[in-house]
Amino acid sequence: MTRPAILRVAVNAPLSRLFDYLPPDGSNIKAAALLPGCRITVPFGHQKHTALIVAHADHSEVPRDRLRPALSSIDEAPVFSESDLWLIRFASNYYQHPVGEVVAAALPAPLRQGKPLHRLISKLRITDDGSAVSTEQLSKRAPKQAGLLAAVQGASSIQFDELDTSLPGWRNVRKALLDKGWVTVEETSEAPSPNEPLPGEAGPALNADQLAAIAAIREHRGFQVSLLDGVTGSGKTEVYLTLMQDVIAAGKQVLILVPEIGLTPQLVSRLASRLGEEPAVLHSALTDSRKMAAWRASRSGAAKVILGTRSAVFVPMKNPGLIIVDEEHDNSLKQQEGFRYSARDLAVARGKHLDVPVILGTATPSLETLQRCKDGAYQHLRLPTRAGAAAPPLLRLVDLNLHPSADGISDTALSAIRKNLQAGGQTLVFLNRRGFAPTLICGGCGRIAECARCDARMTVHASSNELRCHHCGASRRIDDDCKECGGHFRPLGQGTERLEEALKGHFCDHTIARIDSDSVRLKGTMSKALSMATTGETRILIGTQMLSKGHHFPDLTLVVVINADQGLFSTDFRGSEKLAQSLVQVAGRAGREKRQGEVLIQTAYPAHPFWSELFGGGYERVAQSALVERSNTAWPPFSRLALIRASAHKRQDARAFLETAMRLIAPENTGDIRVLGPVSAPMERKAGRYRAQLLLQSIDRQALQRLLQPLRLQLENDRSARKVRWSIDVDPIELF
Ligand code: ADP
Ligand code: ZN
Repeated sequence: MTRPAILRVAVNAPLSRLFDYLPPDGSNIKAAALLPGCRITVPFGHQKHTALIVAHADHSEVPRDRLRPALSSIDEAPVFSESDLWLIRFASNYYQHPVGEVVAAALPAPLRQGKPLHRLISKLRITDDGSAVSTEQLSKRAPKQAGLLAAVQGASSIQFDELDTSLPGWRNVRKALLDKGWVTVEETSEAPSPNEPLPGEAGPALNADQLAAIAAIREHRGFQVSLLDGVTGSGKTEVYLTLMQDVIAAGKQVLILVPEIGLTPQLVSRLASRLGEEPAVLHSALTDSRKMAAWRASRSGAAKVILGTRSAVFVPMKNPGLIIVDEEHDNSLKQQEGFRYSARDLAVARGKHLDVPVILGTATPSLETLQRCKDGAYQHLRLPTRAGAAAPPLLRLVDLNLHPSADGISDTALSAIRKNLQAGGQTLVFLNRRGFAPTLICGGCGRIAECARCDARMTVHASSNELRCHHCGASRRIDDDCKECGGHFRPLGQGTERLEEALKGHFCDHTIARIDSDSVRLKGTMSKALSMATTGETRILIGTQMLSKGHHFPDLTLVVVINADQGLFSTDFRGSEKLAQSLVQVAGRAGREKRQGEVLIQTAYPAHPFWSELFGGGYERVAQSALVERSNTAWPPFSRLALIRASAHKRQDARAFLETAMRLIAPENTGDIRVLGPVSAPMERKAGRYRAQLLLQSIDRQALQRLLQPLRLQLENDRSARKVRWSIDVDPIELF
């Protein structure tokens, strides 16, 4: 291998371009250490940066005398393969995001900071001279040296770590032994060792629908996307398990992506016990060293199963054989800040590039995925009934106009909970709003406590006696009396805290637990709360979105949805899709074992057409009618969107930036692209910044991409960009 003339590298900075460097000085650097996919250290401005070599080049546009050499190499061989680099570049191009920041998202933190891929293990090794020394003699003159020498003689080589525990103080005499040439220091890098597979437990005998789905997926060897559309509890995970066994038996690896950390513990233990393989787990709540271990095990091929959240879509795999995206409809698979990417869509792109099958599993497919099935691009596999003995849950609307309610809970719901408790069942009360109450209002003049930095109300948190803004995190003590009229403030509306208090009043003899992001803030509380819910120790669970997905609580037979009405009148074009998804998901928690589940949905608008669709034809009916509406109005999936957001301390700065963007777009737009805006964001002020946006819409995805690519570069260099924070969101899922 000859040394490359120019290294083209990605640096973790908000700039789209790559940077050119000369290879580092020093003849001892092997050519393999300068291959694309290797990290190096480069001078960047006045700082040192870790950078990733993305390509080699023969010449640079930078004049020769201004090219700087890289400072040093970090890796002995590429950490990313050619195909990993392909994915990084694809993601950077498709999502219009600086490649260095994409690399940063794809690397675990220690690697991003330039730490070695493999932990170096230092050992002392005995030399021939050292073996010949009599430690007995030596111990008379230098007992400490003799102690260390004896330890190394006994083992021929011994790790520093071990000596630290067995012979504290050994480091003080190390130099003496080294100087005498009795020992040498040896450094090796830790190599991941494959787990010894254990025999997996047998699963249930699969039903006809499961077998048919498995057969249909097995039929294709290479890339093929299958939507596994199965009602909750229909046995989708069993289908995954069977296909994973195929892949593992063929010596290949499976990557399985889930939307949320909370979903991993149950799945990890199920995978481990059934496959006999401990999965490598990757998510943000793990320590760096555990993440690194999982990342290395995936890259080396030691891990056969890799389970992770969003960013795991980038994890290198030695021998990929299958990619599964569970709960493919879930918004958490899309990163909504910084580098805005969809892990589901990248998983499909990666599967195509690697030529391996991709399975998208869900009970409530996204309209995007459903439409791809209709187009014939994906195969649509259905598991229409619950597996085993479980029957589908019964859904019922509770008309809040007819049934009196206090603290948000109707008498109907209360008596259903009471009956369920008597029958030995567990109840989940679902409300997607944390805190005590969403509003604090003055009883005298109606003034509402607002955030000083956002166009938003403060949420009342009674347990800490605080008002908190859920948008910017600001908090202050609960206002006493109204400054305007002297009236008393009182909380208005329901949050999970208030619900907990009310339910504790009604059912004081039973264990009640609230699970939301406030209650599980402390490390370990989430897994404890989940295990108490799973064993059935907790009889009434109060939860937000966090609890509605994926979990399997065997005793749970009743779900009460406190308030579905926000979703009915949402201004979001995805409103009905999202509402139906969240109701079906939360309903799916009920009656997963022997006893049938019941779901009560409280609404003040029982005549809304959404309900007749949901009750008449389930999620599928809601989705079909939403697709017709989107087709008529040419919204996604019948068109593509890109949203340019800008925020600034002054309203006019955000506007001016977006107007610049419009000016740049106008001459390039051949009429394929609709430009909507600029308009203020629905909540204009957030954390003291004014927010505005420009929406681009096109039925031609390529046209949109062609327009965005140069636009991104022009905007990066435009003066109006200096006063704003801005971003491009390709395929946004929220339009604010
Ligand atoms: P999903 O992933 O669709 O929610 P799971 O695979 O978790 O469904 O299955 C739900 C429950 O039904 C699990 O307890 C599982 O062990 C059981 N199950 C799945 N398939 C079968 C089957 N063919 N026969 C009996 N029980 C099954
Ligand atoms: Zn705020």
